[in-house]
Amino acid sequence: MAIELATGHFKAMAGLEPISYTDPLTGLGNRARLRDKITKLVAERSLDPAPFTIGLVNLDGFRPINDLFGHPAGDDILCQVAHRLHACMPSGAVVVRLDGDAFAFILPLVFDEIGAESISDLFKDVLSAPYDLGKRSVRLSASFGFAIYPYAGEEYEQLMESVDTALYRSKRRGRGQVTIYSLDIAEEMRRTTQLEQALRRAIIANEVEVHFQPIVNLTNGRPIGFEALARWHDEELGSVLPAIFIPLAEERGIIEPLTEALLRKAARAALDWPDDIFLSFNLSSAQLVDPATHGKIMSIITSAGLRPQRLELEITETAMMADPDAAHAIIDRLRTDGISISLDDFGTGQSSLGRLREIALDKVKIDRSFVSEVSRDRPSEHIIKAIVALCEGLDLQVVAEGIETVEQAKKLVDLGCITGQGYHFGKPLPAAAALEFLQNAKPIQRNC
Ligand code: C2E
Ligand code: CA
Ligand code: CA
Repeated sequence: MAIELATGHFKAMAGLEPISYTDPLTGLGNRARLRDKITKLVAERSLDPAPFTIGLVNLDGFRPINDLFGHPAGDDILCQVAHRLHACMPSGAVVVRLDGDAFAFILPLVFDEIGAESISDLFKDVLSAPYDLGKRSVRLSASFGFAIYPYAGEEYEQLMESVDTALYRSKRRGRGQVTIYSLDIAEEMRRTTQLEQALRRAIIANEVEVHFQPIVNLTNGRPIGFEALARWHDEELGSVLPAIFIPLAEERGIIEPLTEALLRKAARAALDWPDDIFLSFNLSSAQLVDPATHGKIMSIITSAGLRPQRLELEITETAMMADPDAAHAIIDRLRTDGISISLDDFGTGQSSLGRLREIALDKVKIDRSFVSEVSRDRPSEHIIKAIVALCEGLDLQVVAEGIETVEQAKKLVDLGCITGQGYHFGKPLPAAAALEFLQNAKPIQRNC
């Protein structure tokens, strides 16, 4: 009933328009119509440069509706969405269906971010009311992206790219989100590009440094190894956190030269330590899918003169999951050559106990989020106890991360975890200070 009503209504409205400008399901315009309208509006506005806004809307969780209730029900909802959007378009505005559950609109009289925000509130309300499917009704939220001409682009293609980016950002932030390209995204993109350029420069100039955080025996505080952590200070941008520049380097394809430079520096520093002190180094996700990784790592440590038995590589499960077969092959080759593998941030993300059996590992690092709660929170205590027991059964060593107090350290020892790192024992230090730390380490350094 709803389909018939909606389709009939819009087909009638479409009048004599050629069929290629019409979406057959909803009777709204299609992508060709959107292009036509935007191109015309751009031509008009280039003479009278008033802004206008284009928007994209995408239903959240629409696919499961199709799977659960069948395609006719999905089509019915799309027609209801079309009907609702058409009914609330302000004067002069046009709404079209692009494909699937994606709709686009042109708002010739929305000139700025405030206008786009207020109209998105209206659209959100209208689309969040229940959809009638005969015997049942469903509720759906929608994500929005907006782009304002001319700031987000002066031509159709550029505007569509901007509005796509805005919608993509909304989707990444969750459900029912609105993103306006013109101000926040453009600024963020500009800053990201500036950061990328500075990072490229710093990598070439070998300016990204490595600091070393002690990993200790919790029963006596004595260092047994160091985790290498990247540090970057840019003259203009100041200190940039690794949590920012490492993912950026991964995204922009410059993680490889960065990691190689860092490993070279870290291996050189480790040569000054006693031979029984290990170096733990973070591998990024890109390296776990690259078959050349094994060769590169071996060549760097061999030329530095570091025995593979002194190197541990920290990996995460998320990185493993990108291409599990490739990752397994790389890990196996590294381990065959004597390098150890630690599973970092265990207990977060998509941790699965099954994975502990699948990957050939040597160590598991319990994430700081459990450690920081261990002396206050029973569930964290139980989780740590379970991880320790599991690792014991699988013959894996356990390291606790982020230990900040003596109480946490004591509790961990009580729970059977005897190695760890954290500010309580030492913050990440430059190479010279790490060496000093080792020299000052007494047989029983701390009372914990
Ligand atoms: P991560 O590998 O889990 O490293 C531990 C982080 O916790 C480090 O942050 C460390 O400084 C911090 N930390 C250590 N102890 C404590 C503590 O007691 N309290 C608190 N609050 N924090 C503590 P950092 O250096 O900012 O690094 C953040 C993340 O960036 C790292 O997390 C790692 O994922 C990544 N990262 C850092 N250096 C490298 C690198 O050389 N290569 C790669 N691929 N990733 C790196
Ligand atoms: Ca780590
Ligand atoms: Ca970690």
